[in-house]
Amino acid sequence: MQKLRSLLLEVPKTEIHLHLEALASVDTIWTLMKKHKISYADISSKDDLRKRFEISSLNEFLDLFINVIQDCFRKEEDVDLLIKDAQNYLSRNNIVYAEIFFAPSKFLQNGLEFAELIKRLSAGSGNIERNTGIETRFIIDVSRSFGRDNARANLDLTLKHRNGTIVGIGLGGAEEAGPARDFAPIFEIAAAEGLHVVAHAGEVVGPESIWDALKLLKAERIGHGISAIQDDTLVEHLAERQIPLEICPTSNLLTQKYVKTLNEHPIRALYDRGVNVTVNTDDPTLFGIDLVDEYMRLTNRGFFKPDEIINLVKSNTYATFLPQERKDAIWAAAQKIVASYSAELEIA
Ligand SMILES: [Zn+2]
Repeated sequence: MQKLRSLLLEVPKTEIHLHLEALASVDTIWTLMKKHKISYADISSKDDLRKRFEISSLNEFLDLFINVIQDCFRKEEDVDLLIKDAQNYLSRNNIVYAEIFFAPSKFLQNGLEFAELIKRLSAGSGNIERNTGIETRFIIDVSRSFGRDNARANLDLTLKHRNGTIVGIGLGGAEEAGPARDFAPIFEIAAAEGLHVVAHAGEVVGPESIWDALKLLKAERIGHGISAIQDDTLVEHLAERQIPLEICPTSNLLTQKYVKTLNEHPIRALYDRGVNVTVNTDDPTLFGIDLVDEYMRLTNRGFFKPDEIINLVKSNTYATFLPQERKDAIWAAAQKIVASYSAELEIA
């Protein structure tokens, strides 16, 4: 297992489902609390904050995310700290390319300017690439949570201030409260403007939510999508079209909606039925996980064999919005590393 961990660390990887704010470190939030003189009832030291980061339920996660993390960003320049956190996470995991969600709604409600935020994020993306060679792109999460007018406003801002680091829009937030049909016209405009479109679906709502994301939003990838397993026709459809599912196993375990233990996670059944599944962290810092850990967990008690794990790494690379030749180059580099481990790990 130690060998497999070394291989997973060494192999160049991609990640397509993680949220920028969820990369915020304890240091970042503590720095912002001091800078803006923000106090919270039960956080009076960095240690208190660190304890608050040790979440064990969805409620604790939402409380930390909404009431502390998102609340701390009071100036546009604050996102520079997130870029630093992102660089640390990506380098530590040897992720060479990542598509990162950025959800502007809460930042804008805090009075921050979209244009300036995007300028800083794009500059940050450039800095990461100069410092480490790692490429990052952003997907603007227009959000289900604040209604269609808010989502439309987010799209308009995205189109107005778009640059090469923004590759698409996504739909995250409250899946139950914000059904896909409310956002269909927004997604149609985004696609017509040449943006990629993705959507979280089937995370806490049944397969009908995934069908809606595919049919009404024309989503190119599905975030989570784990409730697909309840609908054979949908599973066949996903397998036939090879529509990638951005699966985040640890996140699903914390949500506790469809899976209580890893062994009952549908990722195995979906994989066996030919669905294009990929592995991602969703909220790495907040969940205290690295992408490498996420892959390693899937090998627990032979749930996935080493060669299958490598297949998942490959699927993630090919599910990115990179040009074909870049995908091929990343995978070619990965194969060289895999080959050097093949004898020890019985990987073909
Ligand atoms: Zn997500």
